[in-house]
Amino acid sequence: MDTARTLSANLASLLRREHSALGAFLVALADFDRRRAWMTLGHASLFAYLHRELRLSKAAAQYRKVAAELIQQVPAVGEALGEGRLCLTSIVEAARVVTAQNWETVLPRFFGLSRREAMEVVAQLQPQPAPPTRTIVSPVRTAPSEVAAGPAFVLPILSLEVGPAGNRTPGSSSELTEREVNTSAPTHRPAEVVPLTADLRRFHLTVSDRFLKKLQAAKDALAHARPGATEEELLEAGLDLLLEKSAKRKGLVSKPRKTPPPAKAGHIPAHVKRAVWKRDGGRCQFRLPSGEICGSTHQLEFDHIEPVALGGVSTVENVRIVCRSHNIISARRVFGDDWMDRYAPGKVSLRDETG
Ligand SMILES: [Zn+2]
Repeated sequence: MDTARTLSANLASLLRREHSALGAFLVALADFDRRRAWMTLGHASLFAYLHRELRLSKAAAQYRKVAAELIQQVPAVGEALGEGRLCLTSIVEAARVVTAQNWETVLPRFFGLSRREAMEVVAQLQPQPAPPTRTIVSPVRTAPSEVAAGPAFVLPILSLEVGPAGNRTPGSSSELTEREVNTSAPTHRPAEVVPLTADLRRFHLTVSDRFLKKLQAAKDALAHARPGATEEELLEAGLDLLLEKSAKRKGLVSKPRKTPPPAKAGHIPAHVKRAVWKRDGGRCQFRLPSGEICGSTHQLEFDHIEPVALGGVSTVENVRIVCRSHNIISARRVFGDDWMDRYAPGKVSLRDETG
């Protein structure tokens, strides 16, 4: 019994240190974010810094990012985390309703709660203005014996569920119902992807009624050309069209001209774009402090390594692909904050880096 008490006291002590270390980390992170130090280090966001530089998982990075942002508004959040009264996973929920004005009364309601319990508090404080509409892609898999024998998988089917949470059609998963009841801002929730097998994913997506009408209209329009097309096939066909259009806009699909016309300053000829896109693999080439490239495929732009304003030319060697955030960071490094604030106002500033 005495040994058990001693061991337990040790555990309690270790737990207090864990809470205290977490609180100290998040308070320091809030300060790091306030100074935008992540940008100075070449990262596109605080989340990117946590994930890429500190090697936190995406979920762990997201919790800490939300906590650091909330601490900047409400410093008491840092204390509550350090004392173990507030749990890191419930922060994401608390951040939806706790403000600099109401924290004294609202924050204590989250003390000691799990994320699920915190969701319930948010739902009480911020009732749904309208019941959410969700789209669920549910995979239909054949039994293991059939997998071995014949067609491996049936294509995923999309079941659409519309209406208030209390009016579910039979067969809704309980997980879904709980989420819907408690989600405070359904339209802002990112799409959720749940891996099922190596190839199949379950895709949860909140859509508008307008979206569903368009989906039905597309189905009707293609009823002859592609009878019996699943929603997944329709959506994929639409995405293919978008990608094709985007590739055309970037000058990536048309045939190269035999003699390219003389380029205006800053203009990047299509054949250069094609070669650069191919060489860079359609990914941001900005080099992070760790030495690896950013690799983002989001909001990509063609960037002159030696800027046009400084005599740089539009050759394959002098052009690279970067994401929008890193294009701005590169420009600020080359031209400085004064120039950018004067000629490109509205671009994110590096000024706060030293606080
Ligand atoms: Zn980038």
